[in-house]
Amino acid sequence: MATKNFNAFEMAQAQFDKVAEQLELDLATKALLRQPLREYHFSIPVHMDDGSYQVFRGFRVQHNDARGPGKGGIRFHPQETVDTVKALAMWMTWKCSVVDIPLGGSKGGVICDPHNLSLREQEQLCRGWVRQLSKDVGPLRDVPAPDVMTNAQHMLWMLDEFEAINGAKYPGLITGKPIGMGGSLGRTEATGYGVIFTVREALKEHNIKPENTVAAVQGFGNVAQYAIELFEHIGGKVICVSCWDQEDQISYTFKKKDGIDLKTLLGITDRFGGINKIKAKDLGYEVLPGDKWIEQEVDILLPCALENQVTADTVTKIKPSVKFIAEGANGPTTPEADKVIQEKNIFIIPDFLANAGGVTCSYFEQVQSNMNYYWEKDEVLSRLDEKMTSAYLKVSELARQRKLYMRDAAYVIAIKRVAQACKDRGWV
Ligand code: GLU
Repeated sequence: MATKNFNAFEMAQAQFDKVAEQLELDLATKALLRQPLREYHFSIPVHMDDGSYQVFRGFRVQHNDARGPGKGGIRFHPQETVDTVKALAMWMTWKCSVVDIPLGGSKGGVICDPHNLSLREQEQLCRGWVRQLSKDVGPLRDVPAPDVMTNAQHMLWMLDEFEAINGAKYPGLITGKPIGMGGSLGRTEATGYGVIFTVREALKEHNIKPENTVAAVQGFGNVAQYAIELFEHIGGKVICVSCWDQEDQISYTFKKKDGIDLKTLLGITDRFGGINKIKAKDLGYEVLPGDKWIEQEVDILLPCALENQVTADTVTKIKPSVKFIAEGANGPTTPEADKVIQEKNIFIIPDFLANAGGVTCSYFEQVQSNMNYYWEKDEVLSRLDEKMTSAYLKVSELARQRKLYMRDAAYVIAIKRVAQACKDRGWV
């Protein structure tokens, strides 16, 4: 989000420029890939419950579609900016490429705070978003999905509006739909599980047993919740999570030294991942104001919230015990912090690899929707594991062979594929 001196798009461009230089990309390819192909800015008027009208700003950015239709989520957030959406669209291009699915990169957003909107108002917002873009998204063009503060219900309203406008059924328009309404089993779990598939592989490569590891998690939304579930399932322990407190407008870290209990915590959490502080204290949690999750004496850090969290300031708080960071969020680490992580020799599983499980499962959902035939959950999750594991192993092998930082190795693979597709199409 927009914080002083932080611009996610500049960060995404800086990461790209560094690797483009190493790859000796020609000038035209560099110019094409460091900017989005297209961006849409528009207004969405909504008739509010109190009878007034409010106008919201919406965006869709299509960064690159050389490898297939654009793909990427839509975020609802009060601090959304077009530069953040541009960065996220670019990261979607690399994400789809690194896991080798035939899709490009897009992202959308609306400046709004769903905490303060009724369901009816949110529905109007979703329908309005689609009305502005009905010619520019579509199953063969650009396929949206859920992201921060959007969910399956939002996707279904958007699909319904698109189908009403176009007079036919297009279940492949959008992914993350409800089960039974074109959604794929496993999609809700996919991003969080995907993070842990990569963590599991990294631990295996380092000869460490998951049952001997402890993790601290930032966030308690969809990604964090399912990452914790699978991490505990493979034997690991999570000692804290954090979340944004809407009332106090700050974050809190919820800590239990012997390990958090996912089920009971979920029982006191709202639909935005906000945990009830009083009930948590009653359950024996230490409730620490601020971002204490990063200062914990753990082996693994899992930032699963928003961008710009591991910064020049906060990176110094990471304890020497930390050996791994797996980025469940998009863009949590700034370039300055990245340098420090590299110097500290912490093994990083970069965002667009670690959290690619969501879009990979979205791809499976699209395939199922287009066939109108749905797979069993086991089949979805085992295909997901296969894709994530193979992408992880390719990146870690390249990093080892060429002594590259994991983030750079992932970029090398992703950028090369997209640059080649642009070349093969005769664009540059
Ligand atoms: N919003 C998710 C992401 O950042 C998923 C995108 C998708 O499924 O298209 O990867």
